[in-house]
Order: sequence, then C-alpha cells, then structure tokens
Amino acid sequence: MRKIKVDALVVGGGISGMQTALDLADQGYQVALVEKEASIGGKMIALSKVFPTLDCCSCITTPKMSAVAHHANIQLLTYHEVQGVRETEGGFTAEILKKPRYVIEESCTGCRQCEYVCPINLPSAFDLDYGATRAICVPFSTAVPQYAVMDIENCILCGKCQKACPADCIDFTQKPENLEIEADAIILATGFETTSRFAKKEYGAEKNHNVINAMFMERLLAPTGPYGRVIRPGDGKEPDSIAYIQCAGSRDASLGVEYCSRVCCMYAIKQAMLLAGSLPLADITIYYMDIRTFGKGYEQFFQTAKAMGIEFIKGKVASIREDENHNPVLRVELIDEGSQVVEKTHDLAVLSVGLLPSYNPEELYQVSLGDDGFINIPQTNSFPCVTERSGVFVAGTSAGPMDIVDSIIMSGSAASEAAAYIENKKKSLTSTEERENVYA
Ligand SMILES: Cc1cc2nc3c(=O)[nH]c(=O)nc-3n(C[C@H](O)[C@H](O)[C@H](O)COP(=O)(O)OP(=O)(O)OC[C@H]3O[C@@H](n4cnc5c(N)ncnc54)[C@H](O)[C@@H]3O)c2cc1C
Repeated sequence: MRKIKVDALVVGGGISGMQTALDLADQGYQVALVEKEASIGGKMIALSKVFPTLDCCSCITTPKMSAVAHHANIQLLTYHEVQGVRETEGGFTAEILKKPRYVIEESCTGCRQCEYVCPINLPSAFDLDYGATRAICVPFSTAVPQYAVMDIENCILCGKCQKACPADCIDFTQKPENLEIEADAIILATGFETTSRFAKKEYGAEKNHNVINAMFMERLLAPTGPYGRVIRPGDGKEPDSIAYIQCAGSRDASLGVEYCSRVCCMYAIKQAMLLAGSLPLADITIYYMDIRTFGKGYEQFFQTAKAMGIEFIKGKVASIREDENHNPVLRVELIDEGSQVVEKTHDLAVLSVGLLPSYNPEELYQVSLGDDGFINIPQTNSFPCVTERSGVFVAGTSAGPMDIVDSIIMSGSAASEAAAYIENKKKSLTSTEERENVYA
C-alpha cells in the first residue's frame, strides 16, 4: 500500500481547504489535500461573480486551484476519500480510498476527445442537473486537475472513448485503491451544502419549474452557465419580473434551521445587480425580513442596489403557487403595511437558500457538532479554528455559515494554529529523542 508522510492533511478542496493548504505549504510544511470530487474549487468555482467587488469568480478561484496543483509542497489527491483515521504516536494515520476514474491520470491531457464521442447524455451536476454532460467528461471547463472521469454506472461500454483517446488512457479495469497518509495535524474544510433539500414545501420548488434556488441563478449568470443567458427553466422565456425570497431555509424553526446563513442577503443583492445588467428591462424585487449587510463595503453595496432601482419589500413570503401561465404567484405578508396579505405575480422566483453542513465528521475525526450541526468550536472567541480534539483544526464553512472573505481569513488562522501545533509536536519529539540519547 502506498504511504505518504506529510506535516498536515487538509480535507476538502474548496476555497477554505485550498487557502489552508497554500498557507501551510508556503511556510515550508508538507501538505496532502484530499478532495472527494474529481476537481478542487468547491462551491466558489461555480459562482458567477463575488460580492462586494463583483469580480469574476472563476478569475479569482482558478489561479488558486492552479497554485495548489503546482505547489511543490502540496500533494493533491482529488477523487479520494478519507475512510478511517487513527491516532498514532507520531500523529494521525488516515486510510484513504482512491476512487477509479477509469482514466490513466498520468497520460490524460484533458483534451476531451472522449467526452465529444460519448453517446450518453447525463444531467450535469456542476450545473445542478439543468445542463448536460456525458458519461465520460472533464467535470467542468476550469477543473483542476484536467483529467476526464467516467461515470461507470451510466457507461454502456461502447468503447468509443477508448478509440477516440489519442493518449490511450481509458482503462475500464481500474479498481479502487487504498493508501495511507501520516500527518501531524488535520484541518477539516469540508464546507457546506445549500438548504435546498430543506426548502419549504409551501414554496413548491419541486413542482414549479419557475421557482429556482440561488445556486442555480449563479450558474445562469455565469459565463460558463448551462444556457449562456438568463432564461426561466420552465419554458425558456426571458423573465421580465424576478422575485427573491429571502430566508428561504434559514431563520426558520419549522425547518430546524434557526440560524442566519449570513451570505444570502448579500448574494441576493449581488445577483439582482447582475440581473439588472443582463436583463435591463426586468423588474427585480427582493422580499426580506431584515437585510443583514455587516461586512466591509456591504452596506454601500446594498445602497447602490437600491439606487439602481432594485425594489426591496419588507415582507414574509408564506407560499408560492403557479398560475395558468406557469408564473409563480407569491402570497406575501407585508410587514411594513400592517401585516396585510397580498398576492404578487412574477415570471421567476429565486429562493435565497441558506447553508447547511455538508459532512458529519463526528465518527471519523471524533470532533463534536454544535446545535446548528456545524463543527463545534469550544473556545470560539479565543481559538476560532481549534476543535476539541488536539491536532484537528477547522477552516471555513464546515465551522458555520460565512462568506469567502471570512473563509479565507479563517483558513489563514487554521494554517497558523496547525503550524504552531506541528512545531510544538516536533519540539516535544526532539526533546524526547534528545532525552533518550542522553540516557542511552
Ligand atoms: C448562491 C450562493 C452565492 C454565494 N455568493 C458569494 C459571494 O458572492 N461572495 C462571497 O463571499 N460568498 C458567497 N457565497 C458563500 C461562498 O460560497 C462560501 O463562503 C465559500 O464557498 C465557502 O467555501 P468552503 O471551502 O468553506 O466550502 P465549499 O465550497 O463547500 O468546499 C468544501 C469542499 O470540501 C469537499 N468535501 C466535502 N466533504 C468532503 C469529504 N468528506 N472529504 C473530502 N472532501 C470533502 C467538497 O467537495 C468541496 O470541494 C455564496 C454562497 C451561495 C450558496
């Protein structure tokens, strides 16, 4: 079995895991970064632009992905999963499963010839199942690494990819492989998922095609999105009137998600601004309970959106039904107008879904979870990235909802805490060795 010895193991290759790995590697520490998907990048690589600067998201994320892949001190293990962790005298030993891509990675150049000839069309997970992909594909255009991966469950073994591959790297016989990573410290950066699966049934997102979630709007607004422009998925019509429903899955005790997801106000304002650019004649309305714009430059961002003509209505959306033209009809309680209940019709409704933890590390890493389900941090104010298990640290949204700026700050902090821990460990080992030498 292949064994890798590093100073730190980072689990999760979103912006938080990448930044933690880079911060440690730049200080000279050897890092292994394990990502369960076929590419690093996490949610951030799928976003259109970022608040509050409206920078192109891909333009910020792709260089980081590339830096991780090319850093001499980082071993990048995509399409790998941690299956077991045991504590040893020297630190931790993690049992890792390498999932088969059915493609020889050393030879694959990411030329996509296999993808072009594959006859099987499948929904694209990267485009939240709205776009299409093939049974063998490079996961998305800026994926890192640029290796194809085969969905063997849906492959019909026609062999067309094998014939088309100029590097002869299709291998239907690949099997899962096991390896071990020894590390002094572990940093968990397993991120979040959106609360879509918690979306209120009253919002009808499952049956009404013109009610979408905000993550899908990110894809519609992205230059690499599934349709290349903003249309409603129900019938391909360009929407003239778009509604945002805030707190659709956050601050809602009936869903068991009582906390504020901290990014939804800002991403809704951002998307509204981008929509005002791509659909200049469309009316955009944001239905909100409170607008929380707490970061640097965020309040100014909100004021700019208002000045651009985006309408903000203080109202709680109780339910959404579909009219005969498949338009979403919102039943809204207008908070500022004596709780009057009205119906408002729009072409497209976007649910500002919140953030949930994506992974439960309790069993494998023996860290506990807080009441919100995110990784518990016992001393939040003094050590915001230190878990209760010595040597295990946490970065980014696996600790709770936060934006990219805070994720990056927390990742730097996690890297620094982990570095201090590794140094102390080395020192204590050295002093033990020194003592043993003295007594020998
Ligand atoms: C619709 C929407 C729009 C947003 N827009 C903005 C914006 O404009 N500006 C902004 O600042 N923030 C924005 N955010 C928030 C932003 O997306 C997050 O702050 C950021 O992506 C968090 O990154 P992360 O690395 O912590 O988590 P993630 O991006 O979720 O990355 C986690 C990674 O870990 C991997 N992983 C999970 N479990 C395991 C496991 N067991 N083993 C190995 N790997 C694992 C995942 O595959 C993933 O690659 C937005 C969020 C949403 C939902």
